[in-house]
Amino acid sequence: MTLLDDTRQAMRRDKVFDFVAEERFPFAQGRRVVDRNQVDLTKGAILYLEDISVSFDGFKALNELTLYINVGELRCIIGPNGAGKTTMMDVITGKTRPDHGTAFFGQVMDLTKMTEYEIATAGIGRKFQKPTIFPQHSVFQNLELAMRTNKDVWTSLVQQLSGEQRDRIDEVQNIIGLQDHSSLEAEHLSHGQKQWLEIGMLLMQDPLMLLVDEPVAGMTHQEMDKTAELLTSLAGKHSVVVVEHDMDFVRSIANTVTVLHEGHVLAEGVMDDIQNNAQVREVYLGE
Ligand code: ADP
Ligand code: MG
Repeated sequence: MTLLDDTRQAMRRDKVFDFVAEERFPFAQGRRVVDRNQVDLTKGAILYLEDISVSFDGFKALNELTLYINVGELRCIIGPNGAGKTTMMDVITGKTRPDHGTAFFGQVMDLTKMTEYEIATAGIGRKFQKPTIFPQHSVFQNLELAMRTNKDVWTSLVQQLSGEQRDRIDEVQNIIGLQDHSSLEAEHLSHGQKQWLEIGMLLMQDPLMLLVDEPVAGMTHQEMDKTAELLTSLAGKHSVVVVEHDMDFVRSIANTVTVLHEGHVLAEGVMDDIQNNAQVREVYLGE
């Protein structure tokens, strides 16, 4: 299959690539691309969630959740199953609308009034647990496809990559540690390498904020260490929000940790304080 064939297939919403198409190629006519220069970061915070509530059949998945993320920070969100972590990401990315509360990206951009596509183009990238890579294409081609999604794929795919675009792909391959596997088909990568490729594909869009849901599930210890290194290296240039269960992993990367419980923030602080917090130990660590 050529790259063009695969893209064509990916764009068929009725096909198995439905999910990929939605996530990777949401460029249908009439969709609004948001100018990310409009994201006002002058106050030092990139995300403001205030009093967010989400109910499912009367059950409050989020209950007056208030949470702020600073520009360039690496934040870990932990909490027991059902605490509302994924729902929180759904609210940030526009997949779920809050019953009430406010969600702002920077000072002025109201996420609750934007479509998922607009939010993505404004600079919020989300890594799902389910991989959305193209298995039969190389690492390089996967990154190339991810880079092209913002434009008209039909015209851009037949154009040669510019030197600048090649450099960017090379740079991202280095960041995710796959420079030696550039021409390897993605299906032959290890589980961990696939996850890194997925992160690399997000980086091709140069997101201001990166949301990562349980990145180390199923990884070996060595892969977990490399993932910790990768996410740490992305902070500063990007704001990174990591939802994760694995406490050892969280300890290895965390600056500030937020504990969610029953849809709101139970505790927030450095890992040592969190681990010594009696309430946290009770609800999360099972003591
Ligand atoms: P976490 O990611 O922290 O494990 P979730 O955000 O996935 O938690 O879920 C929070 C709660 O909301 C859970 O009790 C879950 O069953 C419920 N929930 C999440 N999404 C839906 C939905 N679409 N419909 C009904 N209940 C949901
Ligand atoms: Mg979850």
